[in-house]
Amino acid sequence: MALDENAEPHGAVVLATGWVPADVSQYEHLGYGSIKNVVTNFEFEKLAKEGNVPENVAFIQSPGGKEDDKDFPYCNSVTSMVALKQAQYVCEDNAEGKAFVLYQHMRTAGNHELYYKNTQLNDGIFFTKASVTKVEENGTKLTVTAEDTLLGEDLSLDVDMVVLAAGMEPTTKDQDTINLAYRQGPAFADLDLFDGYSDSHFICFPYETRRTGVYACGGVRKAETIDETIDDATGAALKAIQCLESTDRGVSVHPRSGDATYPDFFMQRCTQCKRCTEECPFGALDDDEKGTPLPNNTRCRRCGTCMGSCPERIIGFKDYNIDLIGSMIKAVEVPEEDDDRLRIIVFVCENDAYPALDMAGMRRNGINHMLRFIPVRCLGSVNMAWIRDALSAGMDGVMLLGCTYGDDYQCHFVKGSEIANQRMDNIGDTLSTLGLESERCVTNQVAITDYDKIPQIVNDFVEEIVEMGPNPFKGF
Ligand code: SF4
Ligand code: SF4
Repeated sequence: MALDENAEPHGAVVLATGWVPADVSQYEHLGYGSIKNVVTNFEFEKLAKEGNVPENVAFIQSPGGKEDDKDFPYCNSVTSMVALKQAQYVCEDNAEGKAFVLYQHMRTAGNHELYYKNTQLNDGIFFTKASVTKVEENGTKLTVTAEDTLLGEDLSLDVDMVVLAAGMEPTTKDQDTINLAYRQGPAFADLDLFDGYSDSHFICFPYETRRTGVYACGGVRKAETIDETIDDATGAALKAIQCLESTDRGVSVHPRSGDATYPDFFMQRCTQCKRCTEECPFGALDDDEKGTPLPNNTRCRRCGTCMGSCPERIIGFKDYNIDLIGSMIKAVEVPEEDDDRLRIIVFVCENDAYPALDMAGMRRNGINHMLRFIPVRCLGSVNMAWIRDALSAGMDGVMLLGCTYGDDYQCHFVKGSEIANQRMDNIGDTLSTLGLESERCVTNQVAITDYDKIPQIVNDFVEEIVEMGPNPFKGF
């Protein structure tokens, strides 16, 4: 994608484009868009500012109807707190004011619980869990009917206004919000996975998006109160400064902070297959019209996924490359054919799995003597040539141990472990055609908190291999 001629170069970006109220018009039984006095919480705030708060108001927190106990899309603890605050407006602005809060879930985290309790003491505010079945016009009033209430009886309320708790939809849900010039497109890749939120790893690296140098804060990262947004903005700004300084020193940002090596490409042997450009989780590799990779080093997070993807094995780092791990595999002793002395290699991701394995060792958990462990930057960096080398050297099984992938992924490089899993499926097919059991090569997903489970996972794999018997190609 060509850069716009008016584009200004920037070293880092703090993305603080916020949120918009989520659409609630799909819930026809609630009448938003068709009944005048059914408004969203966002619209009610404007009315309150203008001094137009009616005397009787129902605050509906969940759509009810056929939606079971689901909340409106993007509802959260902030929308619960907003309902409490707006219910208080009704009593403060009207001597006889009555507010009715109908909810499935009230989320009041931490000290906010005290605010909730205090609001419950207000005689003018009535709370009940309820499933709203209909909102109808009734002369100048609106009638709200609900069932499954806390009192066990159906409910019918006559009110002046109904306020729907529209959730806080991140503006990055709209794919064009940031308009990046990346071959993967103008938005963050795979946004559908996260309902439009932009973090690359919500737990370990807050503010980091899936595009190096772009740091998110506020509503594009998660629903937040004003206080939380101020903290968040500070965090993202500090990350942006850290990025500029790291780039200035020629070293990488999280998670391999300070790494001074880049992936080297031995271009004479490149077949322009595009696997590296397509698999790079951070869009760090552009390509020309023939498919030749064009590295953008400042975007690179040194995960090595490109190295794992290359069928020609021509990508490597000075301190982490095909030959280096290949030599580690060769250095592992492979016993002669003997059912009691099999050899199994486990490639272990350095982010969660290896520290968890370390902790399992420190807690003196027994690990089978037939296993040998090789740490890798990410399972995405595992080149299938290493697995072929291990099997042809007579090893009896290979396991990849790394982070969870899929919708709730924990991979520190976004999709490295998922890509590794796909490659392992393919290698399983190849093994079958060679007459080797595909079950000899497996992947397993663990988190750092799984240190007590890891011994069982690897020891169970050893038992499976023992049952299969030695690698039939041993010694050939
Ligand atoms: S090391 Fe990772 S981020 Fe860098 S180019 Fe390779 S795949 Fe992309
Ligand atoms: S994966 Fe290897 S061979 Fe294919 S385009 Fe990239 S560098 Fe070239």
